[in-house]
Amino acid sequence: MSSVAAELAPTPTRRLRFAGVEYEVLPTETVLDALLRHGLDVPYSCRKGVCQSCMMRATDGAVPAMAQHGLKDTLRDHGCFLSCLCRPKDDLDLVAPDDELAFVRATVARVERMSPAVARVRLTPAEPFEYHAGQFVSLRRSDGLIRSYSLASVPRLDDHLEIHVKRLSCGEMSSWVFDRLQPGETVDLAGPNGTGYYLPGRPDQPLLLIGNGTGLAPLIGIAHDALAEGHSGPIDLYHGTRHGEGLYLHRDLTELAERHDNFRYHPCLSGPARMKGCRPGRAEEMAFADHAALDGHRVFLCGYPPMVEAAKKAAYLAGARLDDIHADPFELRELRRVPRD
Ligand SMILES: Cc1cc2nc3c(=O)[nH]c(=O)nc-3n(C[C@H](O)[C@H](O)[C@H](O)COP(=O)(O)OP(=O)(O)OC[C@H]3O[C@@H](n4cnc5c(N)ncnc54)[C@H](O)[C@@H]3O)c2cc1C
Repeated sequence: MSSVAAELAPTPTRRLRFAGVEYEVLPTETVLDALLRHGLDVPYSCRKGVCQSCMMRATDGAVPAMAQHGLKDTLRDHGCFLSCLCRPKDDLDLVAPDDELAFVRATVARVERMSPAVARVRLTPAEPFEYHAGQFVSLRRSDGLIRSYSLASVPRLDDHLEIHVKRLSCGEMSSWVFDRLQPGETVDLAGPNGTGYYLPGRPDQPLLLIGNGTGLAPLIGIAHDALAEGHSGPIDLYHGTRHGEGLYLHRDLTELAERHDNFRYHPCLSGPARMKGCRPGRAEEMAFADHAALDGHRVFLCGYPPMVEAAKKAAYLAGARLDDIHADPFELRELRRVPRD
């Protein structure tokens, strides 16, 4: 059987050993499904292999390659895998990933409101933290709650890490960041992850950046990084939101566009209100109306998952190569009884 066929073949019932107890995994289940069904309180968030907060380590038994998709080599080599993607072919002995392997301690340097719904958090890692602007980290609170946040900072320009957190009305982590998090507190960071970052070597390539809400965070990092590298091709950044206050970096981006001839900022408002200098409509609609042909472009898409998925298809149909399209959907932990379409 080919390796792909072997990975897709039906899986018999397997056993997991975790914290000294055996659990059964049904053929239809992932390791995460099984642990949750057995009532274990293990960390997870997106359940789609994006956020990496459900990572575990196998100390015995082989994990399928697809369950290690996107992990750094050091983590793979130590048997780490994403439990939400893992339909085991073997019985597995599991542990939580070792802290020193997966996490770096960071101190909160500053928390500030950029708008009523968006907070900027600056973090100082306790040890050197290598990353590319545009990647994301998983942030872990002392009680184990983990969520992913994109980096808005740029290694060559900033001596701290910066994330932008949107407040969700009942969101556990985002409400805590808004209401409780103080400078001097520590959190743990895993990562960085993600392949959506600027690659030097094609300085005249047109860059199209589309994001909504805090999907702006990685895009501003990528834009700053490209400009600092001396990128000479056009850089078009479309930021979409419903209300004017959601354009939380309007002044900074307007000034950046004034300083760089090849950088253009397109604020877009999808709600009924109008604002001088802002386009009426969704960011992705405006972007594709302006850029009907995307052959040769590099496209970055971040934020609300349905927007990112639809824009990915549209960018491909407009001629962008698949490996020039980078999509970071901000998958949320689905808590609704009836999921939204
Ligand atoms: C790769 C990646 C990068 C990310 N980057 C960022 C980032 O840079 N900035 C950022 O703010 N977030 C980002 N996220 C999302 C982030 O990880 C969290 O999911 C988010 O902050 C919510 O976490 P929470 O604990 O506050 O909410 P949870 O307690 O996990 O609750 C989420 C649930 O809240 C409900 N909900 C309440 N209000 C809303 C609303 N307005 N819209 C949608 N659902 C709602 C939904 O049922 C949803 O399932 C990213 C996610 C991923 C996967």
